[in-house]
Amino acid sequence: MSGGDKLDFETRPNTAPVSAADRAALLANPGFGRVFTDHMVTIRYAEGKGWYDARVEARAPIPMDPAAAVLHYAQEIFEGLKAYRTGDGSVTMFRPEANAARFVASAKRLAMPELPPETFVDSLRRLVEIDRDWIPEHEDASLYLRPFMFASEVFLGVRPANEYLYCVIASPAGAYFAGGIKPVTLWVSPDYTRAAPGGTGAAKCGGNYAASLAAQAEAIEAGCDQVVFLDAVERRFVDELGGMNVFFVYDDDTLVTPPLTGTILPGITRDAILTLAAESGLQVQERPVSFADWQADAASGRLREVFACGTAAVINPIGGVRFPDGEFLIGGGEPGRTTMALRQQLVDIQRGRAEDRHGWVQRVL
Ligand SMILES: *Cc1c(COP(=O)(O)O)cnc(C)c1O
Repeated sequence: MSGGDKLDFETRPNTAPVSAADRAALLANPGFGRVFTDHMVTIRYAEGKGWYDARVEARAPIPMDPAAAVLHYAQEIFEGLKAYRTGDGSVTMFRPEANAARFVASAKRLAMPELPPETFVDSLRRLVEIDRDWIPEHEDASLYLRPFMFASEVFLGVRPANEYLYCVIASPAGAYFAGGIKPVTLWVSPDYTRAAPGGTGAAKCGGNYAASLAAQAEAIEAGCDQVVFLDAVERRFVDELGGMNVFFVYDDDTLVTPPLTGTILPGITRDAILTLAAESGLQVQERPVSFADWQADAASGRLREVFACGTAAVINPIGGVRFPDGEFLIGGGEPGRTTMALRQQLVDIQRGRAEDRHGWVQRVL
């Protein structure tokens, strides 16, 4: 495809879709990431040819040669966003063009071809449209969309691959907080870091997640829910969680989050929270927060609330922090009022219950 041309999709509907009764049973309690819809999008890329063979087709296994480059050198990136059913029966997505732009940025970092943002958004719309019956009705549920791309070239040499497959799958997701909002406990890993300056920390790539799993396992072993990573250079400053950004709320109504210096994933939820918080009168600062200050400010009470944010949970309060030498609580371990107010504001915009002053919500159907 040359610049500006729209890629044509061929639609091959699934000839054996899940029955309405089976689908209803699956949608009653989908959990997260286990139930999938009837279709997927695939687009191929070859050097010299560009993007081609764009399809909406039955979801099926992808045949892959054992020498496919991704299986050896991990050239893979992904995105995650949700399609929602709103009160008036329409279907929306939240800032899909921001995911499209981040997908381009991740591709650049992993030396992969750039999928045109309009093709990215178009692919999501087409999948949501054909699988619209899979969007859960429940007001806290959604259809999670997972676009991803990997090196499919059959070659063991070390260089950027010449062939790629872009794919989108969709998975109905139940309410993240089914039993009410529950603050999590974080583990500060003494051994592992997530991303070093000049590395891939700002790219949404599978490799970052692979590298975080040992630390996450350590967190679980220590009785915590999630790991929080400190910076790789000084091991002093807070970076983020394995898959969520982190915010601090102080008693003078200051909201602080670590700056985007290349080792932190630029979350779209993070960006929306910065905007909403500034509008609601909080003093917003993007600056480094040291673990020592975190601990001291929690002890003095100056630090009122801490929360993590990302597409899946939107905002998740953090109630406590554990590290090899001790532990401390934040806000008595209860969700804070600023955390919950920001969460409500954002969820109401996403669900079409509050005015969308920033043009964040895109109607799909
Ligand atoms: C995806 C992701 C986030 C959150 O990004 P959102 O766009 O808000 O979903 C934060 N940190 C990491 C490491 C991520 O991969």
